[in-house]
Amino acid sequence: MFMRGLRQTTEVDYKYWSPAETMPPSEIKRLQYNRLLEQVNYLWTKSSFYHEKWQESGFYPERLKTLEDIRYIPRLTKEEIRESQEKNPPYGMMCVPGRGPIIRIGMTSGTTGRPVLIPFTEEDYFGTYCEGHVRSAWAAGVRKEDIVHVAYGFTPFMGLASSYDSCEHLIGSLVVPGGTWDSSLRLTMIEKLGITVLMGTPTYLLHLASVAEEHGVDPRKLGVRVICTAGEPGAMSAPNTGLRLEKAWGSKIYDYSGTQETNCIAWLCEEGTGHLNEDLLYFEVLDPETNEPVEPGAPGKLVITDLVQKTHPCIRFETGDMVRGIETDTACPCGRTLSKFKGFKGRVGDIIKVRGVCVSVAGIENVIRGIEDCSDNYEYHAFKGSNGMDRIKVRIEPQKNIEAELWDNISKKVAEALHNAFMINMDVEVIPPGTLPIYKLKAKRFRDLR
Ligand SMILES: [Zn+2]
Repeated sequence: MFMRGLRQTTEVDYKYWSPAETMPPSEIKRLQYNRLLEQVNYLWTKSSFYHEKWQESGFYPERLKTLEDIRYIPRLTKEEIRESQEKNPPYGMMCVPGRGPIIRIGMTSGTTGRPVLIPFTEEDYFGTYCEGHVRSAWAAGVRKEDIVHVAYGFTPFMGLASSYDSCEHLIGSLVVPGGTWDSSLRLTMIEKLGITVLMGTPTYLLHLASVAEEHGVDPRKLGVRVICTAGEPGAMSAPNTGLRLEKAWGSKIYDYSGTQETNCIAWLCEEGTGHLNEDLLYFEVLDPETNEPVEPGAPGKLVITDLVQKTHPCIRFETGDMVRGIETDTACPCGRTLSKFKGFKGRVGDIIKVRGVCVSVAGIENVIRGIEDCSDNYEYHAFKGSNGMDRIKVRIEPQKNIEAELWDNISKKVAEALHNAFMINMDVEVIPPGTLPIYKLKAKRFRDLR
């Protein structure tokens, strides 16, 4: 059972939030197997959704002799959850009955416009989802004395809810909301209240720093000690984005990633390594074409199983994310034994194969954010060239103080850097600053026009 404010102490400064962070890998494996077995047996008897789905595919709980036997369980897609919710609104048949009142919902916007709702009981929300999240804030050094500002829009986005509740209820910090504030009021309040920790998307926090500069305020002098990003590729997946944030704010940069459907997946420790919440979730990296596990450390698509959550547990959930891989055999200097996560490459649909080369959102972002003359704003699209070949066009806004006659040079520089990174030629267009939209939650930078 969860306890709010479990670690509300200023007397002892624990380095790790959870004992799971330093558990020997063999113990983690045993814990994962026991939890998986319990979860599968529980759902076999309590969930008509899973019982029917598994029975149809020939899976039954006795087949789970080892952790690897998870491969016999059919995978779960977001479309299945969505269809079930449309047939049985609002939460669909995946919501296990009798777990207590729903106290929080997440809602994924998706790209199809048909939202999926994720219901949480108190036990699942505070005990599992916030437990997954609070480790990232704790590793970032957020403590009871901090004043935290969560700069997300006020929507049913789990990143907002769990940032807020982890810091307020579990760590005990003062958390300041500001969903309707514009950037200028936000900056005033950061200074007035003495905000020490800032949370938001990398895109928005870079924008906020540039607004400060426009107002003649140096963001580095505002006293923001720690920045925690989420919602799109941050320091864990696009290191140059992390460096930009660090330079703009003069803060230590942390990043975490999760799915609304499952939990916080991974977070950066103080050594800059991504660690996975392996006691709460089971991770598989699969070849997107064969659905077979890839070699340890190799890239592939991420499939996740909820080991603990009981209200709306996702078993072998296709996240739709492509990842760089998971490393299990090397220790991190921080002392944590949780496997290392090498970061996201992008959404499965956003990774485009062009003339045999995989081009990802995080890859392009990392190149552009590494070039000083480029502002933070860019987009790219794939299209068919006149000869029928697939091509990519990248449109970037330069830094505001650069004269238009120098834009050609920037375009050449970006094209060269992209060629060095991907070994294919891309079209680059430099467009006037302010042309592209400013995103506050997740930036939509890729369009497939083929
Ligand atoms: Zn570490």
